[in-house]
Amino acid sequence: LSRSGGVWVDAFQRSREDPDIFAVGDCAHKQDFFTRKANHAMIASQAAAEGRIAGMNLYGLRQLRYNAGSVSVYASEIDGLAFGVAGLTQHQAEQEGFPILVGEARLPDHHPASMPNTTEIYCRIIFAADSLQILGGQILGGATTGELVNTIGLAIQMHASAPDLASMQFGSQPRLTPSLHPLVAATGDALRRHYEPLHPCITGAPHA
Ligand SMILES: Cc1cc2nc3c(=O)[nH]c(=O)nc-3n(C[C@H](O)[C@H](O)[C@H](O)COP(=O)(O)OP(=O)(O)OC[C@H]3O[C@@H](n4cnc5c(N)ncnc54)[C@H](O)[C@@H]3O)c2cc1C
Repeated sequence: LSRSGGVWVDAFQRSREDPDIFAVGDCAHKQDFFTRKANHAMIASQAAAEGRIAGMNLYGLRQLRYNAGSVSVYASEIDGLAFGVAGLTQHQAEQEGFPILVGEARLPDHHPASMPNTTEIYCRIIFAADSLQILGGQILGGATTGELVNTIGLAIQMHASAPDLASMQFGSQPRLTPSLHPLVAATGDALRRHYEPLHPCITGAPHA
């Protein structure tokens, strides 16, 4: 067992003691996607992902089907307010010593905002300041929160960068989505903060 109490497994979910024995889910040790430190993501979605990886590698290793680490995607809802997180929060990223770039956006989840049942979405995305790779994101909002953090989780797993997200192609429908995807809006804000000091004329900011 690892210090955190899980069965030590390799990237294919094989136990280190005996490669013919696989471990997945709450009983398996997990490593953080970014830091490789122990990660205590005891959630069904993580267990199921590990189960799929184990299943794909049971009868021979498939090089591309391995566990790259726990991204940690969570969402919940209290009294109509949904909140979700994927990857590192701003606080965690700073604690780990990553120089970071943050982008934020607030926008209605339908367009125009006068549509019935419209809820405001708040989206915050954290990037590594040097590589512009996504480190994490947080959402506050309504019914779309769960799938938005799932999209952030996928972007993290795919090592997406701010330019990747800024050029993301998305669908838009007045009753189902905002007119601008919240990840694109928050990434645009991050890129503005990144480039504004370098090229003030691009963003229209006043010259210092
Ligand atoms: C209250 C609560 C709410 C949760 N909400 C969420 C949520 O919203 N989203 C989410 O993703 N996760 C949630 N989780 C976590 C999620 O339930 C677990 O992460 C997930 O069930 C882990 O799956 P598992 O297969 O590893 O273990 P388990 O689901 O615990 O399955 C282990 C199985 O092994 C059996 N077993 C144990 N010992 C033996 C034995 N000696 N011999 C044979 N069988 C044995 C058990 O009876 C059990 O059926 C929640 C957990 C709790 C407790």
